Amino acid sequence: MGKPTGFLEFQRQPQEYLPVSERLGNYKEFVRTLTDDKVKVQGARCMDCGVPFCTNACPVNNIIPDWNDLVFKGDWQRAAAVLHSTNNFPEFTGRVCPAICEAACTLGYNAEAVGIRSIEEAIIDKAWSEGWVKPQPAPARTGKKVAVVGGGPAGLSAAQQLARAGHDVTVFEKNNRVGGLLRFGIPDFKLDKAQIDRRVAQMEAERVSFRTGVLVGAKELPKGVASDAQETVPAADILAEFDAVVLTGGAETPRDLPVPGRELEGVYFALEFLIPQNHAVAGDGANPISAKDCNVVVIGGGDTGSDCVGTSYRHGAKTVTQFELMPQPPERENKPLVWPYWPTKLRTSSSHLEGETQREYSIATKAFIGKDGKLTGVKTVRLEWNEGRMGEVAGSEEVFPAERAFLAMGFTHPVASVLDAFGVKKDPRGNAQASTEASGGYATNIPKVFAAGDMRRGQSLVVWAIREGRQCARAVDEFLMGSSVLPR
Ligand SMILES: Cc1cc2nc3c(=O)[nH]c(=O)nc-3n(C[C@H](O)[C@H](O)[C@H](O)COP(=O)(O)OP(=O)(O)OC[C@H]3O[C@@H](n4cnc5c(N)ncnc54)[C@H](O)[C@@H]3O)c2cc1C
Ligand code: SF4
Repeated sequence: MGKPTGFLEFQRQPQEYLPVSERLGNYKEFVRTLTDDKVKVQGARCMDCGVPFCTNACPVNNIIPDWNDLVFKGDWQRAAAVLHSTNNFPEFTGRVCPAICEAACTLGYNAEAVGIRSIEEAIIDKAWSEGWVKPQPAPARTGKKVAVVGGGPAGLSAAQQLARAGHDVTVFEKNNRVGGLLRFGIPDFKLDKAQIDRRVAQMEAERVSFRTGVLVGAKELPKGVASDAQETVPAADILAEFDAVVLTGGAETPRDLPVPGRELEGVYFALEFLIPQNHAVAGDGANPISAKDCNVVVIGGGDTGSDCVGTSYRHGAKTVTQFELMPQPPERENKPLVWPYWPTKLRTSSSHLEGETQREYSIATKAFIGKDGKLTGVKTVRLEWNEGRMGEVAGSEEVFPAERAFLAMGFTHPVASVLDAFGVKKDPRGNAQASTEASGGYATNIPKVFAAGDMRRGQSLVVWAIREGRQCARAVDEFLMGSSVLPR
């Protein structure tokens, strides 16, 4: 602990945001990395409480108290090394992780938690700017070939770990660039894609090969699943060519809302709006869906919904309304009741505050209403909840004017045909069935085929994808070599 009385002396240091007027005109990141002085103060607030609940809560088990201490002492380079020992891509989590660690911070029990995520971001941003992040090619090659199918955070972390263990790794990605939902789901204003590009360059220098625009296994994809593939490679070819296969294709099947009027022009899956926007920012051509001057209704209250809100404001939407089936959660959690677990509470994102977002709770969509095939409104009913049971409130129907409705109700499971092509068994939710326990973890029912990330656990978070990619890499290395020195 750098300063034993730090938590008594200093307040949490918030990150600065550019004013809304400056950020709405573009898709650039607007959260500023903390200055070195502020990071030092933030780090000094860590109590080094002895039982690091933060480390335990963090899915990659970042060794948070150690880097808090190191930045307080000004030893940034060692802080970066400690951070990299558990996390391949802290610049991603430092920007988009919900900071599960902060909910578990001991100081947060009766004061404001240490701003852990902002320290993580500051450490890795400095590491990149100082040139400390270098390729780490394996000292010896094993001659084993591994295919990673899906270039999201799970696939990238698995590929990097396996390449560092000396294997010849090829990442197959159906889109025209790797990154998965980091690249084409999460908007640039939350994560500048240059962050992904420089990691890809590092991985290329570590001898990872990338084959983009290649769809593995499936020939056809369900509605709402994007692909830029120019080429299809059958699962049998992959199995014949590689010594091990890691399936990290995400959980891409979107949850639909099959109510009357669903077919109207103006009703879209969230990613039908967000993916082309990310392509547009990357210079791949305009987004065919515009929210300019539209009344927008976003159905679903999570990260995806929030990203539709922020993107709609950048398009120049007239109004933005967001629906949530569940009742409005409390503004503050009851700490003694929930700590150190992730609490249910009202979460207001930066996107919500970029306009006068109307947030409606306990509301269900009954129908989409239109004229001449185009959406004009969303018909709703209010809900009442009794002991977890949902009921409609009689006579509460209303119509919200809308020319655009974005369905952001989550994802049900991976694309089944990809798993089927490899003969991989699914769990009852339709995810690739593979346990994470003990030895043999991440292995599917098909010999030498492993699965990780959203494809195995279902729709989740970037930090969980990184954890699974890392752990799966160790399991694959053990399978190929009999033992592994890769971290668990
Ligand atoms: C809009 C949106 C916003 C989000 N915001 C956040 C956030 O702020 N913070 C957070 O932690 N999480 C967020 N998430 C969730 C997070 O992005 C995912 O949990 C995470 O990206 C999962 O990583 P993954 O590698 O398992 O899968 P994905 O990121 O989905 O990557 C899978 C990749 O595999 C490719 N692929 C699939 N099948 C094939 C095939 N057969 N052949 C070749 N390639 C294939 C896909 O094209 C894709 O690139 C968000 C999700 C969405 C949709
Ligand atoms: S990855 Fe997420 S949970 Fe882990 S330390 Fe960083 S912000 Fe916290």
